[in-house]
Amino acid sequence: MVLTDLGRKLNAALSSLNRAPVVDEKVLDATLKEITAALLESDVNVKLVASLRQKVKAKVKAALDGSDKSKDSNRKSLIQKAVFDELVHLVDPGIEPYKPKKGQPNVIMAVGLQGNGKTTTCTKLAVYYQKRGFKSCIVCADTFRAGAFDQTRQSATKAKVAYFGSYTETDPVVIAAQGVVKFKKERFDVIIVDTSGRHKQESELFQEMVQISAAVKPNMTVLVLDASIGQAAEAQSRAFKESADFGAIIVTKMDGHAKGGGAISAVAATKTPIIFLGVGEHLYDLDRFSPQPFISKLLGLGDMQGLMEHMQDLATQNPDKQKEMAKKLEEGKLSIRDWREQIQNVMNMSVSDLPGLLISTKFRFFLRGPISKIASMIPGLPQELLAGSDEEGSLRMKRMIYITDSMSAKELDSDGSLFLETGKDGKPVGLTWRVTRVAKGSGTSVREVEELLCQYRMMAQMAKQAGGKNGWLQAMQKMQ
Ligand code: GDP
Repeated sequence: MVLTDLGRKLNAALSSLNRAPVVDEKVLDATLKEITAALLESDVNVKLVASLRQKVKAKVKAALDGSDKSKDSNRKSLIQKAVFDELVHLVDPGIEPYKPKKGQPNVIMAVGLQGNGKTTTCTKLAVYYQKRGFKSCIVCADTFRAGAFDQTRQSATKAKVAYFGSYTETDPVVIAAQGVVKFKKERFDVIIVDTSGRHKQESELFQEMVQISAAVKPNMTVLVLDASIGQAAEAQSRAFKESADFGAIIVTKMDGHAKGGGAISAVAATKTPIIFLGVGEHLYDLDRFSPQPFISKLLGLGDMQGLMEHMQDLATQNPDKQKEMAKKLEEGKLSIRDWREQIQNVMNMSVSDLPGLLISTKFRFFLRGPISKIASMIPGLPQELLAGSDEEGSLRMKRMIYITDSMSAKELDSDGSLFLETGKDGKPVGLTWRVTRVAKGSGTSVREVEELLCQYRMMAQMAKQAGGKNGWLQAMQKMQ
């Protein structure tokens, strides 16, 4: 999750409001003080913070004047709603970005200073659209930085995305034009043009951008900004806007940058929509941004809309697998092998078995690492469960794979009952020799194997309860 610290502090402020026995002006002020301190720490501009504070107060006051003042629960939800709405307002430029359409070329030109993550983001974007059925490609028009084309070539090859560039042509405008013409002819849907960045905002850079833009006529120009600059993002985006008008912004390096809140709100103040957040160095570390779901996730309220979109994406990517998993869920027949497959999917950051994964999000284990991205979309999950580094999560998952590696085929295809000693009444009374053997074979402990089996059983149990089409969703809702 991005901005974990800010989310935690905002949550803490709203929770202390919930705990207050009486909600009066003093309590409201204390809550607002905590919220504004958290926002300032995230480098949100002091004027924006002051305005948020004022608006929340005014809204609450106006609403209270016309409502039942005696009810504290009324006041609490009024305050919470006002805070939520104003936080959304803080990151919402109020403008809809361009949306690529299938069956036509959509040229996206990326601009930004060197080191902001432009080249990485271009590949991430191509992968994002490719996964959603758009035929995507990259044109490397960065002739300024030595090795830029090599970087594109390597990352595009890794991502299995088509690319175009040149080792000999020195004019970026020529390369950009040639690449776009070629890919348009080849009927690509999304053509991403990566331009060169400079260390600072030099006039040549702006000129070059204008020339490339005139040559390729982009449907959308995207400014790539680094979150670590915080509220200075406003000045940087204004400087770019004066020369090359851009329609959208991507804020990169949101992972681990406490100043990200400042960058996002500063950008919103320039009335340009943020379309994505870069949240890591890997190809899939790109989160779609939209104001309301973003604040909802930040406050631990989930993002049902994002979750549903994610589900639809996955269903189109791998319909057979989806059907197979849905059938297994329906029949309540999820073997240890199926479960292991799910762990591997999480490790590969491929979440193609989402229904099963969602059911398992109740477990702390799954809420670490990459899966926290999905978990954070689910309403009602406590934020502290989402904490923890990807390394910890990966390590835990690796150990689980080692454990299942030491199981026989019969054990893997079972429902885990082979590992349980049962009494006369059929109820489990202990563990069989198999557990000790698996622990020894995998270099883990009996306790770890036991834990794994316990988690598997909980997961299988939920799968059973969830049975039926969309049953997983009902099960998930029951969990809240
Ligand atoms: P460019 O000069 O703007 O094209 O920047 P690059 O794409 O070469 O990226 C510069 C550095 O930032 C590289 O080390 C990237 O791996 C890293 N980077 C890019 N985006 C992100 C992100 O969202 N998070 C993190 N942590 N690193 C990123």
